[in-house]
Amino acid sequence: MRRLFQAAVASRGLALGRARVREPHRLDVEERKLPEDEVERERQLLREAMRAARSELNELRERVRGALSHEVGEFLDLHAMLLDDPELAEGLDQLVRVGRFSAASALRMQRDRLVSVFDSIDDPYMRSRRDDIDHVIGRVYAALHPDPAPQIIGMAGEVLVCENIAPSELAHMHEEGVVAIITSGGSHLSHSAILARSLHMPLLVGAHEALQHINDGEAVIVDANDGQIIVEPDPDDLKAFREARADQRRERKALSKLRKAPSRTLDGVEIRLWANAESREDVSQAHALGAAGVGLYRTEFLFLQRGELPSEEEQFLAYRDAVLGMDGRPVTIRTLDLGADKADATGLAIEDEPNPALGLRGIRLCLAHADVFREQLRAILRASAYGPLRILVPMVTHVEELLACHRLLSECAQELAKRKVKINQLPQLGAMIEVPAAALAIDSLLPHADFCSVGTNDLIQYLLAADRGNDALSSIAAPSHPAVLRLLAHIFESCRQAGKPVAVCGEIAADPVFAPILLGLGLTDFSMHPSSLLEVRRAIREADLGALMRDSNRANFGLLPPSQHRQH
Ligand code: PEP
Ligand code: MG
Repeated sequence: MRRLFQAAVASRGLALGRARVREPHRLDVEERKLPEDEVERERQLLREAMRAARSELNELRERVRGALSHEVGEFLDLHAMLLDDPELAEGLDQLVRVGRFSAASALRMQRDRLVSVFDSIDDPYMRSRRDDIDHVIGRVYAALHPDPAPQIIGMAGEVLVCENIAPSELAHMHEEGVVAIITSGGSHLSHSAILARSLHMPLLVGAHEALQHINDGEAVIVDANDGQIIVEPDPDDLKAFREARADQRRERKALSKLRKAPSRTLDGVEIRLWANAESREDVSQAHALGAAGVGLYRTEFLFLQRGELPSEEEQFLAYRDAVLGMDGRPVTIRTLDLGADKADATGLAIEDEPNPALGLRGIRLCLAHADVFREQLRAILRASAYGPLRILVPMVTHVEELLACHRLLSECAQELAKRKVKINQLPQLGAMIEVPAAALAIDSLLPHADFCSVGTNDLIQYLLAADRGNDALSSIAAPSHPAVLRLLAHIFESCRQAGKPVAVCGEIAADPVFAPILLGLGLTDFSMHPSSLLEVRRAIREADLGALMRDSNRANFGLLPPSQHRQH
């Protein structure tokens, strides 16, 4: 019988397949206390299971190959790190030794305890890390109860329906030909969601009813554009699916013709499309699609996936690889923007800040931890020897912050010179304009910034007093609000007059519908995730810049002095 369910989209796309329902690992355990003489054996079983889970992870680590091996490897390393945490092993052992719980009970108790800590954190990214705990404990549990039949063989053409999926599993599923994944839990911020987007694997999360109401072998349409699941579709659904898929193919084909096309308006003005990147995959996609360069390389990723700070060497390698990947096109490395919605596990950002979005984040946090910041600046300076590189500073509010960056940068170059690492020239230093004060007083920043990049995600949140992480406020946080448009016009015009390049790197730059508005306001540099680049290029090629600018002037979006306001 035909049934319809809703879910949240974590990775867009369309698929039709046979359902493969995977019941969650039930950590079903008996509650009885172990008799004294069984305790030692149970401790032994637990140690063996942990060892087996560890070697399984090692094996997987060896096996990951291909374009995403770096990212998948990082997820596996994170899981290995969680598994190696002495507190985890000690806590489990204590539960068996002192509490006389079975190994399986200890695993469930430890899992519940850790998960409840993560669930209580008021931060969507950190909450989504509970999945990692689940996967790691689930792996040890599975080692305790080995399953002779691995389930991921022969899944081509199937839609996996499960409670949750680990990134390493997701990569395997993709190789096995699974066409889409539906999870009852999960979040669009999870590592698996990020990976699914890179692999173009449709993924729906939060499909609460899916596990109970979809049966093995039923046909399922996954519409991960609209967040719909149709089980046992009728002939009309199948016809609509075929049409939608044909549309999608046509659209992709038409767009792929634009891979080598110039980003030029109808009236012949060249617009530069830059890429936002945070992984090697993003960088290679950016290169392949003819991005002008990387306009925003978010460095938080190196810090977010782990509990310790990455070393200078590790950072250097990541930044160098991005520079090499762009093969001579400039790469804009943004210095660490931790804090607010990007809380980390390294202990750098303050955990209990009462109002983190208005707290110690971005450059504020970096200047408060100058040693960590210097390490990052040295890594960036070293990478700058390999190709054109620029530095971008997030959350600038006061000119003194930029001055401090300039000072630290020259000191770091001197430190490197002492280590016989020569930097030919200090990279350009730019300011992110994402705090309304910086936007309004941009003239005070421009003498000390080589370029600007407008972080509209934060600028809109601060200007319209609407939390960017709160879905309920999406209509209030509208980029078309006149205050946003006027402030953007003011930023673009101020930069133009000062002769300083300016780009927009917030999500609105990736919206083809919004592109004509930004063009009309005078923007010539857009930076976006590479997956949106071709759509925006098409919008630009269809735009008449002269007409858009005339419309924009007529609408008077500019932030004019009060006397001029009155005349209009
Ligand atoms: C922004 O604020 O628009 C931006 C690009 O930075 P992030 O989303 O990383 O805060
Ligand atoms: Mg920002």
